[in-house]
Amino acid sequence: MTTGGNFYNRLGVKRIINAASWITVYGGSIMPPAVVQAMDDASHWFVDMHELNEKAGNIIATLTGAEAGLVTAGSAAGMVLEAAATMAGNDPAKIWQLPDTSNMKNEIILHRAHRVNYDHSFRAAGAMLVEIGNASTTQEWELENAINENTAAVAYIFGPRRGGAIPLRRTVEIAHQHDIPVIVDAAAMLPPLENLSRFIEEGADLVSFSGGKGVMGPQSTGILAGRADLIEAAYANGAPNSVSVGRAAKVCKEEIAGLITALEIFVDTDFEAVNANWRAKCVYVVDELKEIPGLRVELEEARPDHLEGGSNFAKAVIHFDQDWNGPNIEDINQMLFDGDPGVRVGLSDIGDALAVYPVALQPGEEEILAARLKEVLTTGR
Ligand SMILES: *Cc1c(COP(=O)(O)O)cnc(C)c1O
Repeated sequence: MTTGGNFYNRLGVKRIINAASWITVYGGSIMPPAVVQAMDDASHWFVDMHELNEKAGNIIATLTGAEAGLVTAGSAAGMVLEAAATMAGNDPAKIWQLPDTSNMKNEIILHRAHRVNYDHSFRAAGAMLVEIGNASTTQEWELENAINENTAAVAYIFGPRRGGAIPLRRTVEIAHQHDIPVIVDAAAMLPPLENLSRFIEEGADLVSFSGGKGVMGPQSTGILAGRADLIEAAYANGAPNSVSVGRAAKVCKEEIAGLITALEIFVDTDFEAVNANWRAKCVYVVDELKEIPGLRVELEEARPDHLEGGSNFAKAVIHFDQDWNGPNIEDINQMLFDGDPGVRVGLSDIGDALAVYPVALQPGEEEILAARLKEVLTTGR
């Protein structure tokens, strides 16, 4: 069962059972003990941060198959650095000038179907977003047509949905014909393990991942991998350089130790066993809830080939029938959250069903979760 909690108890902060996946607002992930130990170990010495960043970057390069790598302060920070690197490069004057982009290439082309909250990170560096396509389709000529002398990069975001975007490989081919780099946000695309090298292999120039989601490193870390010159530029646009947009997203030596250790554990993980364990938790929840009248509780299998965030693992989805006469989704969520421990579940894509994500559940928590869900779903009936 769960240990720890003394600090939270002292502050009066209650525990949350997280069936909503590795999302930021509930604390990212729970780091394996070896990660916490590596952070402790790294906390006793001073080191030269340039040397540490370079050696850590080399490990990222090896594990991703990229030319170079960098530990970032999360995927969003990685996106700020991607934008800064492709606009200002290594030029100290331009780096200093950002986020003011006058007299610089500052346009980042983005599929409209890829718009997510996090594309703000590109704008935070000063970039202007240029949209192509519509919500469900994009034509190659639209990408060709959007490229001009102000184009700094083409961005590609693997977010909650794909919406008929031009495939990454083809996007890369077109961009590269014009010498434009392709920068990728794949924050929540790990696992599956193959994705760690997949987007680099498909030709992306920079790829950003979260370190505190499926990699289970410190929540405030991320991974940037890609072309050596662009990684060098990304580093120049961040800490320890104190006149850069990335300076506000500093990574400490302990976080570097934690992220690298987490990544090494991640690439060594038997995901067949992990997926079976996650799926079993979903099956348990389905079995516990399926008799409640008015609900359709289903196991949704993993679809890692979909390349959409959240489709990489099995889920238990609770659909509400026409004749459902219990509490509505909002009230259910409130009741779940108000308990102690609080319970958080996810929502289906369009918000009409509840989704139980197994990945952040700690051992045995599926039982508390299912019991609490049953209680709430049968309230007043
Ligand atoms: C979580 C997420 C981010 C932000 O990643 P952090 O590591 O939390 O900074 C960016 N893009 C997408 C699609 C995400 O899911």
